Amino acid sequence: MKIVVLGAGESGVGAALLAQKKGYEVFVSDKGEIKREFKLELEKAEIPYEELQHTQIKIFEASEVIKSPGIPDKVVLIKELKQRGIPVISEIEFASRFTKATILGITGSNGKTTTTKLIFHLLKTVGLNVAVGGNIGTSFARLLVEGNYDYFVLELSSFQLDGIKNFRSNVSVMLNITPDHLDRYNYEMKNYIQSKFRIIENQKENDLFIYNGFDRNIKTHLQNKQLEVRELPINEVFHQKNKLTVGVSEFDTKKCSLKGQHNMFNATCAILAVQAIGIDKKSIQQGLDTFVNAPHRLEFVATIDGVDFINDSKATNVDAVFYALSAMEKPVIWVVGGVDKGNEYEAIVSLVLEKVKAIVCLGVDNELIIEAFQGKVEIIEETQSCRDVIKISQQYAQEGDVVLLSPACASFDLFNNYIDRGDQFRTAVLERKIKD
Ligand code: ADP
Repeated sequence: MKIVVLGAGESGVGAALLAQKKGYEVFVSDKGEIKREFKLELEKAEIPYEELQHTQIKIFEASEVIKSPGIPDKVVLIKELKQRGIPVISEIEFASRFTKATILGITGSNGKTTTTKLIFHLLKTVGLNVAVGGNIGTSFARLLVEGNYDYFVLELSSFQLDGIKNFRSNVSVMLNITPDHLDRYNYEMKNYIQSKFRIIENQKENDLFIYNGFDRNIKTHLQNKQLEVRELPINEVFHQKNKLTVGVSEFDTKKCSLKGQHNMFNATCAILAVQAIGIDKKSIQQGLDTFVNAPHRLEFVATIDGVDFINDSKATNVDAVFYALSAMEKPVIWVVGGVDKGNEYEAIVSLVLEKVKAIVCLGVDNELIIEAFQGKVEIIEETQSCRDVIKISQQYAQEGDVVLLSPACASFDLFNNYIDRGDQFRTAVLERKIKD
């Protein structure tokens, strides 16, 4: 049996290492340049690889191909593999064959990382033998190479779900479905929705499907469908005055670092998921009190002259910005912009009118943003550097305001990625604070 792995990123290298461990002959092929750290790993494991090319004769020898989630199905090589009847699967499909552990899978357009990390933290707090990964951090395959776990908490992207056959999660969480990545789905929302719903494709009657019952796309898709899996829709979030109610249990959110209604929804999903595993109320409370989210998600940076600075660089679509603005209790200087992914700002215009006193555009081409808010928001400024963002924001911000970086766009016009953007913003704020 020969496995060919296409794409040598975290998931590809993880899959190659796992395939080798399981006794397969493995070949890795990447059309681009492979990162040095991954090359070293492949060399150390003596796994043959190529970069900057795909040698077709070698690839067509495969009995099965594991494709990186980054490679679209429409690529000629993938079409040809399918024509030849060579199965093309994703790394999570492959990895799932080698474990009997309980899998908790989390998908959605926004909130995956936050919810995945929270579920992991809640399970870890009670001392379970649990690992976290998938679309964040370590790939599922690599986790299987590294250790024996009883539980896996996996963030799952639609691209990863596209390549499954038998992958089954025991507890699935579907947070929401809003337009994203439509370029990979022929600009058809229904294709993207179908892809997300593959998370429940192999779930059985004893499994659980927790989902957003007030999400229009999810509701419409489920209409008149009889599912085999146990369904647990969340139709409302009960959060008031530091009290989150989930079913018959009440949790105190005073110490919880997660802010905003969207995060209370994420927390509700996480609580229901771990309750299904049998985690008790006291332990959940302890976990909520001690959870620290990943950076760049409504991350508080500093207060300068009474103005709060918040880094929400991970908000790369309009829906995430909607929830970020909704969570703000003070007048906002909104820092927005970057590479537009087909944004429609109409959905947030009234919220912007209510909350935003000035807009600072941080992007190369800000035309769509200016078009959407000109004449509605009095102050609109443009810049291409984070240092200037801070200077401009300080001109307009008064004590008691907040400067919120929540860009609604991808970052590749000015930055390497959203992390780079958020890091530069944070550094600029902290430099300013030190000067003061
Ligand atoms: P993902 O992994 O799906 O990108 P993250 O947890 O990294 O999700 O959050 C991405 C962005 O979406 C952040 O700006 C965050 O504040 C926002 N967000 C988090 N949860 C939700 C939610 N349930 N609905 C809408 N936006 C959310």
